[in-house]
Parts: sequence; C-alpha cells; structure tokens
Amino acid sequence: MVQNYHPQRKKDLPMKTIIIGGGIAGLTCACACLDAGMEVEVYEKRDLESMLSGAGGIFIQQNAMRVYDLLGQGKIREHLYAQGAKILKGGFFSKKAELLYLNSPNFANVEDLGICLLRPKLQRLLYDSLPAGTVRTNAALTKFVETPEGVNVSFADGREAWGNVLIGADGLYSKVRAFLAGEEQQKPAIYSGMTCWRGWFEKKNILLDERYSWAELWGCGDRFGYFDVGGGQYSFYAFKNNPPGGDDSATGGAKKTLQAIFADYA
Ligand SMILES: Cc1cc2nc3c(=O)[nH]c(=O)nc-3n(C[C@H](O)[C@H](O)[C@H](O)COP(=O)(O)OP(=O)(O)OC[C@H]3O[C@@H](n4cnc5c(N)ncnc54)[C@H](O)[C@@H]3O)c2cc1C
Repeated sequence: MVQNYHPQRKKDLPMKTIIIGGGIAGLTCACACLDAGMEVEVYEKRDLESMLSGAGGIFIQQNAMRVYDLLGQGKIREHLYAQGAKILKGGFFSKKAELLYLNSPNFANVEDLGICLLRPKLQRLLYDSLPAGTVRTNAALTKFVETPEGVNVSFADGREAWGNVLIGADGLYSKVRAFLAGEEQQKPAIYSGMTCWRGWFEKKNILLDERYSWAELWGCGDRFGYFDVGGGQYSFYAFKNNPPGGDDSATGGAKKTLQAIFADYA
C-alpha cells in the first residue's frame, strides 16, 4: 500500500483546491496539488467501492508515466512497477495472427514502454497515496457559485464546500464543464458506432504467444486486444461495429456473444 508520501502542506500557501471526481484524473490531480503544498478535498458522487472499481486494465504509456514519476516522491511510480506489468514487445495482427505492425522498447532504446495494470489497482494505489479524509464519497456536485475569493460548491445531500479553486475531473458528463459552458442540459454522448467489451482473464487458462506482452487482432468491423497486467492476469478489450442498444442477454451473456463474434479468429 502506498501511504501518503506527499509532503506537509505549505502553510503559507492559502490555496485550497476542491476537485470534483475521484477517477484517475481527480486522484492524480489531488496527488499533484498536495505535492505542490495545497490543501485538497476530492468530492466523488459514488460510494468508495464503486469509485475504486473499473472494468479491465489500462495502459499507462511513457508520456503518462512521466507524470507519475513526478508525484509522491517517486513512490507512485515504484508501486505501479511493483503491481503492474511492463509494456514490452507487442503488435497488431490480422485475425489469423499475421503480423501487421510490431513495436518494441528496443526500437526506442528503452527498457519498457510503460506499465499496464488493472484499473481497480490503479484507482486503489492513487487513493491510498492520499491522506485519510481527502476523498469524500457519496458527494454529487449539484452547483457551484463563484465568489471574489473562490468558489462555493453544493452537493446533492446538502453538503457545502469552499475552495480558492475548483477543478472539474468529473468525466465524460462533466457537470462542472456544463456549468462553465452555460449549458442548461448536459449534452448526450454520441454513439461511435462501435460497442466495446472489457474484462480480464487468468493467463494460465489461455494459450498465448509468450513473445508478446500485448497484441491486437483485426478482423473486418471487429477487433480483439489483450495485454499483460501482472499477477498472472491479462486484460482484454473487444470492439465490434454494432447498432446502439445491444443486449448481451439476448445472446446468452457477454462470453457467448464474444465467442460468436471471434469464432474465426486465430
Ligand atoms: C475502452 C477504453 C479504453 C481505454 N484505455 C485507455 C488506456 O489504455 N490508457 C489510457 O491512458 N486511457 C485509456 N482510456 C481513457 C481513460 O480510461 C479515460 O481517459 C480516464 O479513465 C478518464 O478518467 P477521468 O478521471 O477523467 O474520468 P472518470 O473515470 O469518468 O471519472 C470521473 C469521476 O467523477 C465522478 N463524478 C461524475 N459526476 C460527478 C458529480 N456531479 N459530482 C461528483 N463526482 C462526479 C464519477 O463518478 C467518476 O468517479 C480508455 C477509455 C476507454 C473507454
């Protein structure tokens, strides 16, 4: 567990920062603000268990890793390397496993291209790095009002908070952004035409080409990717061009749906 490696708050800094959203962005931003000596409160609308959950894994490429190198006196980077798997050689393949494109740390003369790990592990690691009480859950922002000194924030359960600065890290349907942009109603997301499934599996259950730490196989209108996330586990993602509103229960569940889509893959 990473335990609050952030330095003491600088008392001469009056900056109190309110962050809305306890996702990857909100928790990372909280680490950075604490490291800079600010006082930080993170407000998250979900309960802690949901906040720390997440489907499948995530690639933290070297550019993102440079941010974590700077945070928590380098301890966050250490824990990411301890808990995840290095991004090593991998590539894109046809669905019959013919190589289309290869990438490798050797090409850039580096040891690895970053880290992959399960999303809940990343969330937990970032959360544990913050001082107890920094994150306040079940707190859904409803509105905020700017004042000459800062901003007053209100939450659905009647709570209020004040800060010099408000940071919106509340994701795709950001209320903070909607307020700032003067949008009466949040804009609905536009369906991309593709459905994505994500999850993970035990490495020992599936025969994989050991030469690659990640791979993505391309069919026509569908593709399947997997990557090592450490601890003997692999994360996967699967895309298919589909009309909106699909329902896996109509085909016997997600596993059966995926088996049917990818039946002719190598
Ligand atoms: C299929 C897929 C694969 C991806 N793979 C990668 C990858 O490999 N590498 C990578 O770097 N990125 C990847 N991304 C992108 C990455 O996952 C996102 O950019 C990232 O998770 C966004 O994090 P966030 O903290 O900004 O938002 P979110 O994770 O959406 O967090 C927002 C938080 O704000 C909370 N919230 C919302 N409204 C309120 C409110 N009113 N009050 C209080 N709290 C609120 C939410 O509950 C949530 O916890 C992928 C995305 C997808 C969809």
